[in-house]
Amino acid sequence: MSLTTHRATTNGHAYTPATNALSFDLEHWYSATLVADAVSNPDDHIEQSVDLVLDLLADHGVSATFFVVGEVAIEYPDLVRRLVREGHEVGSHGHTHTPLFELTPEAFERELSESADAIRSAAGVEPLGFRAPNFSVTRETAWAFDVLEASQYRYDSSVFPVRTPMYGVSDAPTTPYLVTSPTRPFEASAGNCTAGGTDRLASGVAEFPISVVETPLESLSSRGIPTRIPFAGGFYARALPTWLLRRLVRRQNARGCPVNLYFHPWEFNERVRVAGLPAHKRFVSYYGLDTTARKLDRLLSEFDFGTVRSALASGLDGTGTDTTSNATDRLRRHTDHERHDYRL
Ligand SMILES: [Zn+2]
Repeated sequence: MSLTTHRATTNGHAYTPATNALSFDLEHWYSATLVADAVSNPDDHIEQSVDLVLDLLADHGVSATFFVVGEVAIEYPDLVRRLVREGHEVGSHGHTHTPLFELTPEAFERELSESADAIRSAAGVEPLGFRAPNFSVTRETAWAFDVLEASQYRYDSSVFPVRTPMYGVSDAPTTPYLVTSPTRPFEASAGNCTAGGTDRLASGVAEFPISVVETPLESLSSRGIPTRIPFAGGFYARALPTWLLRRLVRRQNARGCPVNLYFHPWEFNERVRVAGLPAHKRFVSYYGLDTTARKLDRLLSEFDFGTVRSALASGLDGTGTDTTSNATDRLRRHTDHERHDYRL
């Protein structure tokens, strides 16, 4: 995975390439809130699902981040070892896949340390990044940033900057930022995604929100109707046609902004389909499952993707100058002895 210093041209549009982030939340497919109660005694399929993803990534020579549930790391240590061996970053997706809404700060601290222990035991690496189950870092759980920093995590990628019935912060920044103020964790000090990029991993906790597309419909916003539309992963990416996904990634990159794209390995595996789910849960859980691999294959062919950490560290300064090595050096110094030197 090369760090981007080149300029790229796609369909005639020159753009400053931002290394986009690609991540997978590694959990039992039946951990998903919508199916957890409706499925009993499920088959696991986790190794087959990861196989499908790793083959696709290897085809493109792309490294990605896997946010792994600690209990899964205990159950499948070889799988986590394999992720590291194949050049991927391993972050934490909590220890028990419990959303932060159901945790106290103290319980969250335990989740972080227990999942880090499990990942360390499995693969000998320390997780630097965190993805909350159900994107549950919101205004109600903003204490999470303090706990992450105290627990030696360097970045979070859990903020969904559009309000949905289950999660989200409607007016949070849509591009990566350093969480500088514990009292204002959803405000970026810089106004756009390229400003201050080199400092995002220099200190404190950085946030890399899930990508959304902003629509220019201010009049709707004033009437309380969301003007941001999620597209960059999970059900949203499965529901949208490939041409539209490509256009949205291209638009973000044309502004010099990296996209933060996420999936779950089970979304690549048709075998997770089970009978008996109510129609609406079946729709959200399974719609587009047969096209996920093809979509991601197309995106990886066209755009530059890497780990969340590398996308945060690749501090393009808005002029196309790659200042990555400085940011990476700082990160290496900080993480020197105990932290694993991930391939970026
Ligand atoms: Zn999850």
